[in-house]
Amino acid sequence: MGDPDYDVIIAGGGPAGLTAGLYTSRSRLKTTLVEKMVVGGQVATTEFVENYPGFKNGIMGTDLIQHMEEQAKRFGLEISFGEIENVNLGDNQLKLVKFGEKELSCKALIIASGTKPNELGIQGEKELKGRGVSYCATCDGPFFKELDIAVIGGGNSAVEEASFLTRYAKRVYIVHRRDKLRADKILQERAFNNEKIELVWDTVLDKIEGNQTVEAIEVRNVKTKEVSKIEVGGVFMYVGIKPNTEFLKGVLSLDERGFVITDDEMKTSAPGIFAAGDVRVKLLRQIATAVGDGATAAFAAEKYLEL
Ligand code: NAP
Repeated sequence: MGDPDYDVIIAGGGPAGLTAGLYTSRSRLKTTLVEKMVVGGQVATTEFVENYPGFKNGIMGTDLIQHMEEQAKRFGLEISFGEIENVNLGDNQLKLVKFGEKELSCKALIIASGTKPNELGIQGEKELKGRGVSYCATCDGPFFKELDIAVIGGGNSAVEEASFLTRYAKRVYIVHRRDKLRADKILQERAFNNEKIELVWDTVLDKIEGNQTVEAIEVRNVKTKEVSKIEVGGVFMYVGIKPNTEFLKGVLSLDERGFVITDDEMKTSAPGIFAAGDVRVKLLRQIATAVGDGATAAFAAEKYLEL
């Protein structure tokens, strides 16, 4: 068998993958990072980042990612584009990664493929996707100027993006299934103090209505069981995330939700495969924790290759 194409392949170009690439490149390991579409992961669709240390006044998500990408490339990281379809463990010494027309081999693989937004699966969601139903406020917010819109969920994404959307929308309803938000306290304070935001507590979304575009949502109060309609021109869904691990089923141990199980050295159930960032089972999914995972995974991969 010939030499592998790469020492390390990294799947995914968010903060975890780019940090892993920075570290492996500086360790002079021949590395390519495979990204599906646009480098940056969730951060690329985050307007402003203010909880990543080192930027005292915060930084635009796209700027932070550009810095990370340029920094890693400066040390030799290659970036390839394509969606990974499968990973073949081969004889355990050599991993084969197939994406598009290509199949590349490597000695160590770092999974940093992140997550994607959950869908609720309710009536009207699929039908009106892209016509008022959105999963990305930074991408679609400007289309909702002077409209009333709804944001579904009570986590960091929902509350942060609801505040962002008040730049455009006339009114933003945050529809949350409980009477307490999950989001960080500082994000909650901003939402409570924003006169364009209205909290709709203890309420779930049953249906999205509209002909060509979204016209209203049907919601249900889970305590009173009362069903009502709110007229809105758009619905932003932030009801949690699921991991991008379809291509790893049967290859690695995943938890019941599909997140990759690792130890604290980012080792997965397969020798020579590591995982970093939001895609793995972990307590806190933040840029700060993703870069730590990326550095650890790269270091662990280097140690593995030295064996
Ligand atoms: P999340 O933290 O899992 O929150 C999802 C929200 O959706 C929760 O409020 C949840 O309600 C609600 N929800 C879940 N399933 C639902 C359903 N079937 N019907 C109605 N509501 C439902 O997800 P996220 O906000 O997308 O954040 C993902 C990760 O990224 C988190 O770790 C988050 O901290 C991180 N993040 C951080 C920042 C930041 O630091 N600025 C920004 C964005 C994201 P319950 O609360 O009742 O469970």
